[in-house]
Amino acid sequence: MERNRKTISRRWFVIAGLSVGVALIIGGMSGCGTEPLERRGRVVILGFDGVEPTIVDKMLAAGELPNLAGLRKQGNYQRLNTTIPPQSPVAWASFATCKNPGGHGIYDFFRRDPATYIPGQAFGETTLATLAADGSVVKPPASISNRQGRSFWAVADEQGIRSKILNVPFVYPPDRLQHGLMICGLGVPDIRRTTSTSFSISEKYQRIRTNSGVVQVPLRFDGDVAHINIPGPMDTRRATEPNKRAYSAMPVAVTVDRIGDQIAIETEEKSFTLRKGEWSDWIESTYQQTPSYAVHAISRFYLIEVMDGVHLYMTCLQFHPHNPYVSFSWPPEYSAEVADRYGLYKTVGWAYDTHSLRQDVLPETAFLADVKRTMAWRERLTLDEIDKGNFDLLISAWTATDRVAHMFWRFRDRGHALYTPEGAERFGRALEDTYLKMDDIVGKVMGKLSDDDLLLVLSDHGCSTLQVEFNVNTWLVRNGYATLKGQEDRSQAFGTQSFFRDFDWEKTKAYGTGISSIYLNLRGRERNGIVPPEEADALIEEIRQKLMRDVKARLYGAENVAIFKAIYTRHEYTGTAADLAPDLVLAYRKGVKTVKSSAMGIVTKEMFFRSADKWSGDHSANDASDMPGIVFCNRRISGKKPHIVDLGVTALNYLGIKAPPDFEGKALI
Ligand SMILES: [Zn+2]
Repeated sequence: MERNRKTISRRWFVIAGLSVGVALIIGGMSGCGTEPLERRGRVVILGFDGVEPTIVDKMLAAGELPNLAGLRKQGNYQRLNTTIPPQSPVAWASFATCKNPGGHGIYDFFRRDPATYIPGQAFGETTLATLAADGSVVKPPASISNRQGRSFWAVADEQGIRSKILNVPFVYPPDRLQHGLMICGLGVPDIRRTTSTSFSISEKYQRIRTNSGVVQVPLRFDGDVAHINIPGPMDTRRATEPNKRAYSAMPVAVTVDRIGDQIAIETEEKSFTLRKGEWSDWIESTYQQTPSYAVHAISRFYLIEVMDGVHLYMTCLQFHPHNPYVSFSWPPEYSAEVADRYGLYKTVGWAYDTHSLRQDVLPETAFLADVKRTMAWRERLTLDEIDKGNFDLLISAWTATDRVAHMFWRFRDRGHALYTPEGAERFGRALEDTYLKMDDIVGKVMGKLSDDDLLLVLSDHGCSTLQVEFNVNTWLVRNGYATLKGQEDRSQAFGTQSFFRDFDWEKTKAYGTGISSIYLNLRGRERNGIVPPEEADALIEEIRQKLMRDVKARLYGAENVAIFKAIYTRHEYTGTAADLAPDLVLAYRKGVKTVKSSAMGIVTKEMFFRSADKWSGDHSANDASDMPGIVFCNRRISGKKPHIVDLGVTALNYLGIKAPPDFEGKALI
C-alpha cells in the first residue's frame, strides 16, 4: 500500500504540473477578472446525458416524474439550448468552460491531425509509460486533455469555493482543486487506453480477433477445463517495435459443469463459480511488465451460456482505484478512498458496454441490469457526498440516460429496421425506466437541500431515432472534391482502407472526418494542402450549398427528402481555439447521421445506408435546434432560451462570484 501511494504522488505531480501551467497561460490571456458578489447559498447541479425533452414532457404530463414535476412547480423547466454540433464532448466542454467550441477547441468526437490527416479522439489521450532498458519507469503514463479554457469550478476554486465534482463527462485529467475533490467519469479509458475494450470468450471462436471494442477469445476445452490468456494492457516494452504490438496476458482457467449449467473460474487472484446469467464480483489483475513496473486492473465476468457452447463475457479492464494506470481523481487518493468506502467500483468512463450489446455478446437484460446497478452506485456516492457536507458547489452526472437512448430507440420507432413488436413489448420503456430512476435521484437530492440551495438539473442534448446513414466522403469523391489514388472514374471509385489512406491528396480539396466535420485540404495548414487560402470561403460556400440542395434520401417513408437541416461554417465559432474549427459542420435532419466508415476516412461504394444497428438512437450530427437538452431549476429562470454555457455562470453568480470576462454565458437567475 505504501508503494502504491508513492506511485500515485509521482503521477499526481505530473498532472498537477500540467494543469497549473495551462491555468496560468489561460488565466493570463483572459484577464481573469473576478470581484465579489453576494453569496446566496450552495449550488448543486445534476447532469443527465442526452435526456430527450419530448419524452420528459410526456412523462410529466402522465404524472410519471413527480420529483421533476415538483421542481418545475418550485422553479422552472425549459429546453436547454446546446452546442453546434450537439455531441457530448462538445456540449460538456461548453458546460465546463461557459464558452462556444471556439473557446475550448472540442468540435467533434474526433479531431484530425493536419500533419497526418489521421482522426483521433478530440478530447484527449492517454500516453504509455516510458521504461528504461532495466525496466524502471522513466516517465509514467499520463492523460492529456485537449480542452482549452478553465472550468467554472476551477474559477470558483480560486475564490475559495469548496467543490465536489463527480463523474462530469469529459473532464479528465482531474482539475487540481485547492478546496475540492473530483472523480472523473466519461473520458477515463480502460488500461488498454481505449474507450472500452471488453472480452467475448467462447467455444465458437477459432482465433483471437478484435472487432470494434470487443476482443473475441477462443475457448478450447480439454475435458472440462480450458486455459485461456486474456490480452490485457499493451506490453510497454514492445509497444514501439513496428508490427510487434503485444499485450500482457491474464491467465484464466475455466472449468465447465455442463449439467449444473455453471462454470468455475480461476484467475491468479481469485476462484469462484458462476451460474448462467450471473455477474461475478470485481476481479483484480496485475500485469507485472518489468520488475519495477506493473499495471493494475479490475474487471467482472458475466456468464452468458453453458449448454449451447460456453460463452463468457468479461468487462473491459478498468483502472484500479487503489493503483490507477493514471490518476482519475482529485486528490489522487480520493479514488482509493471511495473504494475503501464502498468496495471496488466501475472506473471506466464509457460505463456501459454498448459494443458488446451491438455485437450480440451481452444480452439486453444484462446491459439493463448493469445500467441499474451503476446508476444506483453513482446515486449512493452523490447522496453520501451531500450528507458529508463540506462543499459549496456539487456537480454529479449520469450517462445511462444517453446510452439507453442510443441502444433501445429501435423499440420505440416502428420505422426502424430492428423494430419488433415483441422487442417493443419487452424493452419499449427501457428509456422511460431510466428517466424514472433519474426522477428518483432528483427527489432524493431535493430532500437533502435547504431553502437557500440552488438546484439545477440538466441534460446536454436530446436524442432521436437513427434510420439513415450517409458517407460524406463518398459524396465528396463523386462530386469531384476528393480523389482516390488511381481511380479516375469517380462515379465508381471506392476505397477499403481507413484513415484516408486511399486518398490522393494532390487532387483532394475537402475531406470529411469525425461525425459532423468537413475540412478543406488547405494549403499551409494540411500537410499536402492544395486549396489556396484565398479560395477557401468560396469553396466552403459551394460545398455547403450543394450538400443542402442535392443530397436527398428516403426518410420516414417519404422519397427525396433533403437530409440536411443546416450546414454551418467555421465562421460560426469565435475564440482562442477558433482556428481548429472544421470548415463545415454538418447538421442532418432527425433520423440521419454520418456513417462510421466515413468518420474514419473510408470511401464506401454506397453513399447511403439504412441503419440496422442496435445503436438506433442518435443526436450527434443533428441540428442543435432539434436536439435541445432540458434544464430544471428550483428557482425561476429569468429570460428565455437558456443555453448550456449559461449554467456555470449562473452557478458562479449564485456563489457570489462574477464570471471572468471570457465566459460567454449569462446568469439565469
Ligand atoms: Zn449520445
